[in-house]
Amino acid sequence: MINLTVLAKRVGPIRGRHPWVFSGALKSIPDGLKSGEPIKLFDENNAFLAQGYFNSYSQIAVRLWSWDTEDEIDEDFFVKRIQDAYELRKDLVENKNTNAFRVVNSESDLLPGLIVDKYDDYLSVQFHNQGIAVWKKQIVTALTKILKPKGIYERSDVGNREKEGGASVGILFGKVPEKVEILENGYKFFVDIIKGQKTGFFLDQRDKRSALQKYCKGKKVLNCFSYSGGFSVYALAAGAKKVVSVDSSQSALELAEENFKLNKLDAKKGEFVLADVKEYLAGLQGQDPALKGEKFEVIVLDPPAFVKDRHRVHEGLQGYKKINEAAIKVLPPNGILVTASCSQHISMVDFRHMLSEAAGHAGRTVQVLETYTHGIDHPQLAPFTEGEYLKCVFAIVR
Ligand code: SAH
Repeated sequence: MINLTVLAKRVGPIRGRHPWVFSGALKSIPDGLKSGEPIKLFDENNAFLAQGYFNSYSQIAVRLWSWDTEDEIDEDFFVKRIQDAYELRKDLVENKNTNAFRVVNSESDLLPGLIVDKYDDYLSVQFHNQGIAVWKKQIVTALTKILKPKGIYERSDVGNREKEGGASVGILFGKVPEKVEILENGYKFFVDIIKGQKTGFFLDQRDKRSALQKYCKGKKVLNCFSYSGGFSVYALAAGAKKVVSVDSSQSALELAEENFKLNKLDAKKGEFVLADVKEYLAGLQGQDPALKGEKFEVIVLDPPAFVKDRHRVHEGLQGYKKINEAAIKVLPPNGILVTASCSQHISMVDFRHMLSEAAGHAGRTVQVLETYTHGIDHPQLAPFTEGEYLKCVFAIVR
């Protein structure tokens, strides 16, 4: 345990329980401090502030995980944190129809850098930085104690880790099959924990997939950036006439098709198109004769993060505007647009502004019907607005 002093002018956010402490907020950092080292922070009068761990690769020198001076950082600490996180999901998310959800949401569950997703009896985990990865053994033991999984798989092949090294993937405990079958709101999905995107499935859209259902009966639905067909399965199950899923990944589309079969949905009502969404939407606007006359009353846009870096927000917003404008143009009057952004650097206000500009360019009036952020299994620490990456707007296009 190392004690560090925080400059007087920088203690406010720490007292407000923001979990990040930048190196510039610290009076000094001793040479040779290793990532993962537990840190206690004090103000300039030696009053205790918080505890966290050091990370040498980042400007965020200390990530906080406790505001209690008594906490000892050992296996029991992780057991307690994971237990608290799991209890919340057990009460509010897990039930006989849903066995897949995020168990640990990093900073917001007071375990900065750690993501744990539960897919039935299997866990898919990410250690987002070297500092938290130092505690891997204790964390894996705590996870096995509390969740009793059949297998734990590491998917630390994420941006930061690829830069700093340590982007490990592989089994951490037990066995993990090639595909795990999960239940979400009563629907079945195959999840590819090993080769799928992120941890295998986009659990953060569960409530939005559900919300989509009321708009689908008797409608033709276009699901852009469909991945393994999450929105598509819900749409067809809710009575859509036809659902077209568009994605640029062949393996995602194959999984989507399998997920249709798994739910015994009428395969004839589904179409799986390997294409760039921008080109597909341009095709609907008349550039592809094969798509002439094809009209969708509901369009879902759930692209990957277009803004990965806070210095490129403007560029990213242009990307969102292009696809939203194209979708608005091809929707008939009273069509429904479900549009999402998972870019951490774009706020809901920015996103609404982008949508207004897109509507203006398309010459259409857009009314917002519903707005969503994350689900209950992705709780957010109140001061940690940086963690609120997901925005989703349901709108009617007049
Ligand atoms: N809506 C999905 C998650 C979407 S993830 C769900 O609920 O599960 C984003 C998807 O966009 C990925 O499957 C990725 O393969 C796809 N993708 C990325 N760029 C694309 C592009 N230009 N055109 C089509 N698909 C793209």
